[in-house]
Amino acid sequence: MNKRKNKGYKDSGKKRFDKKNGKQNTKPGKQAGGNPKGKQKNVTAKVTCSGLSKEGKGIIQWEGKQLEVPHLMPGETAEVLVSKKGRYVNAELKRVIKPSEDRVTPPCQYYFQCGGCQLQHMNEQAQTRFKQETVKALMKPFGKPEPILTMDHPYDYRNKSHTTFGMNQHRQVIGGLYAQHTHQIIPMERCLIHDPKADEIVETIKDILKHSKMQPYNEDTGQGFLRHVLVKVGKVSGEIMVVLVVASPVFKGKNNFVKALRKAHPEITTLLMNVNNRGTSMVLGDQEKVLFGKGTITDTLCGLEFEISAKSFYQINPAQTEKLYGKAIEMAELTGKETVVDAYSGIGTISLIASRKAGKVIGVELNKDAVRDAIRNSKRNGVKNARFYQGDAGEFMVQMAARGEKADVVIMDPPRSGSDEAFLSSIVKLEPKRVVYVSCNPETQARDMKYLTANGYKVEGIQPVDMFPQTHHVESVAKLVRKEEAGNR
Ligand code: SAH
Repeated sequence: MNKRKNKGYKDSGKKRFDKKNGKQNTKPGKQAGGNPKGKQKNVTAKVTCSGLSKEGKGIIQWEGKQLEVPHLMPGETAEVLVSKKGRYVNAELKRVIKPSEDRVTPPCQYYFQCGGCQLQHMNEQAQTRFKQETVKALMKPFGKPEPILTMDHPYDYRNKSHTTFGMNQHRQVIGGLYAQHTHQIIPMERCLIHDPKADEIVETIKDILKHSKMQPYNEDTGQGFLRHVLVKVGKVSGEIMVVLVVASPVFKGKNNFVKALRKAHPEITTLLMNVNNRGTSMVLGDQEKVLFGKGTITDTLCGLEFEISAKSFYQINPAQTEKLYGKAIEMAELTGKETVVDAYSGIGTISLIASRKAGKVIGVELNKDAVRDAIRNSKRNGVKNARFYQGDAGEFMVQMAARGEKADVVIMDPPRSGSDEAFLSSIVKLEPKRVVYVSCNPETQARDMKYLTANGYKVEGIQPVDMFPQTHHVESVAKLVRKEEAGNR
């Protein structure tokens, strides 16, 4: 068991309260009256943690209010620092008095400042239990989920890394992740969930910068050049893409930089420059230039090859993705005849895997680069029965329904915000026999499943998958069947 020092706990669970209903309001923005500017009051309180929030924070009661404390575990007693300013109430862990048996020393030295991972202080069993319970609670109206599919080695899994560059107060080049809720860079050499090779490359780039005139970008002054570095690794192919996100198209000393980087890392297969001169928090800008290589990497997933460009979405944990897709295809129950719609299709991964067992597949995706990749990918794999369309999935489905078209199976994999009513109501019109809903956010998945189950569908299976170990995120795939269809079995 681990006894940790107070100074480790840097993070905090900022909460706001709406006096009217006494409920927590975590949304930023205007408050329902009152003066948030009041005097700050700090109190140290001894508390007992009663459970976990959906973000893996410890739940405590304080002066009749429910607060969430990062890094606190159920059953633990602890000293927390509660700061109150107007209606803002913030609780921070100071010292664990009675630790949980499931508490472990987080292997990452940056864990308490970074916030990118939220569960490293829990052992694997506790993480698994938390995720299982989260999905179970959200899916309660629909049925009991299967045991979550976990990962054997739950580290080093991310095939994509993102590092922000800047300078410290001594004007030394630093690179790392932003500290939680801030734009303050935590200098970092190794992130334990990144592919180790990606971190090695970033260290080399830091080194090159230190010995060149190239300056990291300064968000406050708008001066400097290098903003971020993205590294994408093909876990099976070994191909590596490096994207330098820069503030201006004028790359002074480009040749020397490229030469030094390639010399140190001959394994880099392509290098790109992406110009982002906007003041937004978007990482990638619109202008992209290939500095060497083909501008994309290829990787193998479920026996097929996929070409991935800088801006396209590709699942960040391919080992677990194979398990997830395997389940999704199993739930689709394809026999070789079906018309399948793969909505939110990205670079066509699910479409092309499904195409081997379907009559035809129609993929729809908003991102132009991803659609281009999907078309290229179908050619690369000799797939002749898949078509890809660029556009909003909801609009596309509305048009399909208006034309009176039918689909046997809809596989959907929307972003965290979930789907929308245009999309869901079109499903009801298209009357597919089965809907396979893949989701990286079971909360919005449950919301959308409520609509579908109220409109003719029945849930036949729910499978959680741990795609993001050490973080509170959990993936879930659900099988929904049209009720008449279910009755005919
Ligand atoms: N199924 C793919 C991608 C899933 S991620 C895979 O497993 O790799 C979700 C995808 O939805 C992203 O590619 C994103 O660009 C796309 N997307 C987001 N909003 C969309 C919308 N309104 N219509 C269609 N696609 C959308």
